[in-house]
Amino acid sequence: MTCGPTDTPTDVDIPTLREKYRIEREKRLRKEGSRQYVETEHEFAGFAEIDPHTAYVERDPLDTDIDVAVLGGGFAGLLCGAALKKAGVEDVHIIEQGGDFGGVWYWNRYPGIQCDNESYCYIPLLEELSFIPSKKFADGAEIYQHCRNIGKHFGLYDGAVFSTQVRELNWDDDIARWRISTNRGDDIRARFVVLGSGSFNRPKLPGIPGIKDFGGHLFHSSRWDYDYTGGDATGGLDKLADKKVALIGTGATGVQLVPFLGRDAQHLYVFQRTPSTVDERNNTPTDPSWVKTLRPGWQKERQRNFHAWTFEGMALGQPDYVCDFWTELGRNTAARVLALEDPASMTPEQFMGLREEEDYKLMERLRRRIDGLVDDPETAEALKPFYRFLCKRPCSNDDYLSTFNRPNVTLVDVSDAKGVEKITVNGIVAGGTEYEVDCIIFASGFEITTEISRRYAIDAITGRDGLSLYDHWAEGYKTLHGLTSRGFPNQFFTGFTQVGISANIAANYELQGEHIAYVIAEALKRGATTVEPTQDAQDAWCATIRENLIDNSAFDSECTPGYYNNEGGGSGAESEGIRSHLGEPYGPGFYAFGDLLAGWRDQGDLDGLELGT
Ligand code: NDP
Repeated sequence: MTCGPTDTPTDVDIPTLREKYRIEREKRLRKEGSRQYVETEHEFAGFAEIDPHTAYVERDPLDTDIDVAVLGGGFAGLLCGAALKKAGVEDVHIIEQGGDFGGVWYWNRYPGIQCDNESYCYIPLLEELSFIPSKKFADGAEIYQHCRNIGKHFGLYDGAVFSTQVRELNWDDDIARWRISTNRGDDIRARFVVLGSGSFNRPKLPGIPGIKDFGGHLFHSSRWDYDYTGGDATGGLDKLADKKVALIGTGATGVQLVPFLGRDAQHLYVFQRTPSTVDERNNTPTDPSWVKTLRPGWQKERQRNFHAWTFEGMALGQPDYVCDFWTELGRNTAARVLALEDPASMTPEQFMGLREEEDYKLMERLRRRIDGLVDDPETAEALKPFYRFLCKRPCSNDDYLSTFNRPNVTLVDVSDAKGVEKITVNGIVAGGTEYEVDCIIFASGFEITTEISRRYAIDAITGRDGLSLYDHWAEGYKTLHGLTSRGFPNQFFTGFTQVGISANIAANYELQGEHIAYVIAEALKRGATTVEPTQDAQDAWCATIRENLIDNSAFDSECTPGYYNNEGGGSGAESEGIRSHLGEPYGPGFYAFGDLLAGWRDQGDLDGLELGT
């Protein structure tokens, strides 16, 4: 399918809206920035350490030497594991906190869970596993199963260590290995370690005074308690029929949850600080006749097309394959560009100006849509998002907005107080009113843009000479290609460090996994016991990154706070500054980065890496 521009209102008053956006941002900005959230450790550890899906089984501690430990069994770990196997590295052990592979798709099994990006782009290795998702936005269970299938396909279950949390990672120079200690008392000595824990691995809680005082039931959305709610991921939460439920959080998770909670709870209170953008879903079943037209290489081509229409702004001359709310801004901007007399003479500033106008119009379309779906004007107004598109992750859902028409559902706007004020033994206080509830569900997100010590959730990562990675990177990443760092031999990073970034998360991990696997396989082939970047190579890469940095800070600093911009950076003395959840991206982009790495591999001399024996 391809499509043209989407109709948007033309009567938008941009200066007035710009001021409104500023006011809405200021209203929510908190001086503590990301420190408003508490980590799920110590007294709050139970929120994250509980595994509702796999029973705890005692086992003897492991005392073993291995070639490669991959920490994390979600997309990042699986794709790196698969690449290692393909590169001929056999002794690969994925260590995973959950009881199986899947990562976010293992943990998040809340009612209504589906992916929000088109499945055909989002779900990795579709061609290699000859799998086609059943619909545009696949159910969580289908994605989880696919993750397990990747594990089976590449033999990654052999040697996998599940239900195990890594506590410390210390480089032992005497044996030239990483010593991995875990909550199971293991001493795993790995020649190579890949950090593949992904971006959404660690739940966080809002630091609302009184959480510990609440007398009812509490859990985080990523550890759904079906024993308490009844039902399963398809709904039927029958045990909530006599329960008053509070939901804190209206991000991508909250939006998926609300229709199910609204349907089944005796009463649902939705505590909203910032509304999400919620467009129509159009979740169509996969058309078998379309599948027959697909030719080898189709998924990578589709991912590239999606990337071009989103991250690159637009893709003139190319059809828009995905054709939904994610690509709308690109499509609408492209239509404006093509209507110019001489599109080729357009300056980057003119392009950004057109895109900004289209952004205001798109957001106005989404706001006006709410008036048509929500009966109560005050509720409709509170549900309207006033910020630029992509300040927050865009959502789509056909039942979310209309759920607020139900008599048993109440929207509580907590934006004026910058969030829920207090939790008491009986419930939640907001706007001076106490809402008595039986249960509080935190759809409050994950450690995504917080400090790396919070994100990695490993007490210590210590390289050569006792150097802590957390200290080493305190002022910014120091890497070669975003994947290795001097002083941390044989350690590899995945995710958003100093890499080229694709709009498709799986494409990022696939590329990174392929490169890491190549380096490890080469090191093993060459009989090296250590591999790490030279100081010069690392300095040169850091300089390349900083010279070519795509500076989004102006855009980010005008956005409402959230994890995309490190909660707006905070304000005053406690400010941490704006930080993008994408790390420090390689300016020329994802595909240029891929070409650069491929060229580097083709050279065959491991340029910039120091091998030790
Ligand atoms: P988010 O971080 O996006 O949302 C957290 C929510 O909690 C926000 O609405 C936030 O409000 C709210 N919140 C935090 N503190 C308070 C407070 N003190 N009082 C009231 N509200 C508060 O988490 P999600 O789990 O929704 O999503 C995280 C990411 O995970 C997504 O952006 C997406 O990338 C991924 N995801 C993907 C899904 C998919 O593909 N289907 C589904 C779910 C998640 P505010 O916005 O004001 O900060």
